[in-house]
Amino acid sequence: MNCTKCKTKAVIDLPRHNAAFCTPCFTTYVHEQVAYAIKHQRMFGPDDRILVAVSGGKDSLALWDILLKRGYKADALYVDLGIPGYSAKSRAKVERFADTVARPHGVTLQIHTVQEEEGAGIKELSDLVHRPTCATCGTIKRYQFNKAAVEQEYDVMATGHNLDDEASRLLGNVLHWQDEYLDKQSPILPASVEGFAKKVKPLYRLSERELAAYAVLNKIDYIVEECPMAKGSKMLLYKEVLNRLETESPGTKHRFYWGFLEKQAKAQPAATSMAEKDQAMLHPCKTCGQPTTSEICSYCKMMSRAKVSK
Ligand code: SF4
Ligand SMILES: [Zn+2]
Ligand SMILES: [Zn+2]
Repeated sequence: MNCTKCKTKAVIDLPRHNAAFCTPCFTTYVHEQVAYAIKHQRMFGPDDRILVAVSGGKDSLALWDILLKRGYKADALYVDLGIPGYSAKSRAKVERFADTVARPHGVTLQIHTVQEEEGAGIKELSDLVHRPTCATCGTIKRYQFNKAAVEQEYDVMATGHNLDDEASRLLGNVLHWQDEYLDKQSPILPASVEGFAKKVKPLYRLSERELAAYAVLNKIDYIVEECPMAKGSKMLLYKEVLNRLETESPGTKHRFYWGFLEKQAKAQPAATSMAEKDQAMLHPCKTCGQPTTSEICSYCKMMSRAKVSK
């Protein structure tokens, strides 16, 4: 198998593009996909300050690596969830990457420790508020990333969601006809109201397999294990189903997700109508001031319930 571009020995085949690449050509392909995503979706410009949400996994570290190598000013934030046997390992991977790769670019890594800031690890917190661990985690991470981006005046917050994440989420939303989530499923969410950071997903054109290959070929040391709390989740099931379809018919995932984005763009001028809807529905939380649909935001509600239960 030879590289489609330079005809030397290929290290990876990409059936969905009917192509194969050597290491340098594959790295170029990955960077081009990210550059296209940033430009096509108008995610950010060369002078914008970016806050990358990092977890220690391949996607978020690859994203940080790509943005830095492309000359962007990208700091990162890691949320330490306090999951025994997992968080310490993932945090070590992030800190190592920050020390060896990121800091020489003059950028910073911030760490938010749930145990210290919220008073208990994620497992204990979810037991206290009687909610599933992943729902509790989602509320805390969304809140803390948005707060950091807004308070420190970053222009945009970037996450490492890849094509597999977005296609499986789309499948879940379609299977349950979650109209409201479908409306908001986009690689870019504008800062529709004051207090909301602009959020972007520059890896939406790259698959999980491609990002794992990028990380390995570029010697990025990432945590290979999934978070233990993900076990049995519907998203993993949807990913398995889509992987079966992709094997039988390469390109299924990107045709499914990109096709949805094209139809969505034709159906509504996304940014304007979303901003209008948000402005009508959101107002500042009475406790913390972050935008919410109810009087008190879900983070503050959760934290007050956790305090009462202690
Ligand atoms: S699997 Fe659940 S607990 Fe683990 S990082 Fe994801 S959302 Fe958080
Ligand atoms: Zn090549
Ligand atoms: Zn609040």
